[in-house]
Amino acid sequence: MQQATAETCAPSVCESSDLLLGFVNTGPLGGSPDTLTGPDDLTAWLARTGLAGSGTAAAVTGADAVAARELRDALVMIFRAHSGCEDGESALPAAEAYLQAVAHRYPLTPRVTADGVRMVPAQDGVLGAFGALFAAAADLAARGGWARLKMCKDPSCHTGFFDKTRNSSGLYCSSACSTRMAARAYRSRAKTAAAEAR
Ligand SMILES: [Zn+2]
Repeated sequence: MQQATAETCAPSVCESSDLLLGFVNTGPLGGSPDTLTGPDDLTAWLARTGLAGSGTAAAVTGADAVAARELRDALVMIFRAHSGCEDGESALPAAEAYLQAVAHRYPLTPRVTADGVRMVPAQDGVLGAFGALFAAAADLAARGGWARLKMCKDPSCHTGFFDKTRNSSGLYCSSACSTRMAARAYRSRAKTAAAEAR
């Protein structure tokens, strides 16, 4: 299977990863506030993604916003697992079970063309938008890019990112975060060495 790297990032891979990362990055990241707190925020996210059909804004409810946050939290947990974060024994299975339990609410249907087959949401509106997230996950998984969706391991950042390293070993969203964490690790080692030398 072809691996999605910086060189081979096909448009559909970028489209799928951008949709999922844009969604998880609505969360409270590195001290910035949650931008998915209610129906208005969810309507704004729908508008940003272009997934909002006509009349969707009026149809977005508080329950939809709660469902969006639950879905987001479960995806964050999966992406944290991709980064090797340890969140306790039950956190990841709980997130996986949640995604499995709710997936049937957002059915997908295959769209078959001469160019290929794409899973698309069977519904429109908010349910269709959530379905598009599952379709994007399926698309990335089929292209070998699923495990490349990660959350930055810098605790002051925690931004979702697409790992473009060749061997899929990236842990930080940017060189700024990796430099900061390397400096922190260096200081910690120096402190330990100084304590041992006493
Ligand atoms: Zn980062």
